[in-house]
Amino acid sequence: MSRPANYFKKLAGVPVHYDRFTDVRYGYGTKGKPYDFFCTKKFQDKLDACFQELWNICPHGKGEVITSAGAYVDKPGSHGMGRGFDLDGIFWPNKTFITINYPTEKEFYLGVEAVLRKHFGTVLNHLYNNAHQDHFHIDDTSEVKFFTSSRSRVLFLQATVVNLFEKTIDIDGDWGPKTRGAITDVLQTLGIQNDITDLAVWLKYLDSVAKTAFGIVEKEKNPLELLQDLYKCIDDQLQDSTSKKTIESALALFIDHLDTQKWLKQYNS
Ligand SMILES: [Zn+2]
Repeated sequence: MSRPANYFKKLAGVPVHYDRFTDVRYGYGTKGKPYDFFCTKKFQDKLDACFQELWNICPHGKGEVITSAGAYVDKPGSHGMGRGFDLDGIFWPNKTFITINYPTEKEFYLGVEAVLRKHFGTVLNHLYNNAHQDHFHIDDTSEVKFFTSSRSRVLFLQATVVNLFEKTIDIDGDWGPKTRGAITDVLQTLGIQNDITDLAVWLKYLDSVAKTAFGIVEKEKNPLELLQDLYKCIDDQLQDSTSKKTIESALALFIDHLDTQKWLKQYNS
């Protein structure tokens, strides 16, 4: 296919730079230089949605620069169709993420990958082969879904259960009873019902991976702690409001009820 007419310089409001220049000032691992990235409009929309979600979920917020090894390239495969993108790194004001550093920041890497996988069926990562140690290849030529026969998906799943959920299994890309057992356990712990090959389950799992990787999973609060949150909320939000007293006295009636007291007693430690 010839080069699509559509191109972008930014994704989700953030400049995308090319960082594969031979000049070391703009080479791999640097912020690179502004560039025109060609791809189909449909594929660009998916990239925009994906990075927007990453900015929303990641504790570092919106990035400053995304670095890439390219989108459309005149060669066979997804890049030649204008439906492939190679992600080298992401720079935030207080965080630099370079994909080749997988071995020293596996958790963060897998968190980013989880978000990519919510939007793109094909994601080839550091574990896939030597060629992908220094970038994520993403394309939309396969479905967003977990397939037990997909080596790249199984590798990712194994890496997440080992590095984020403390399972001890081999990360070999082969789906077998140990991998199945590990993911079943993890899903149960996370309170996610059903089979990982089910799309809804896969998407929920990816959310949990991202939240765990980014350290934003809160321990589940008990009703007493939730009640304290509610009091704090009323205090913060209704400070100058005339309805503050009415709401507080209605809440007090509920709290002071004998049945409520009996039920809450069990959470007093
Ligand atoms: Zn690629």
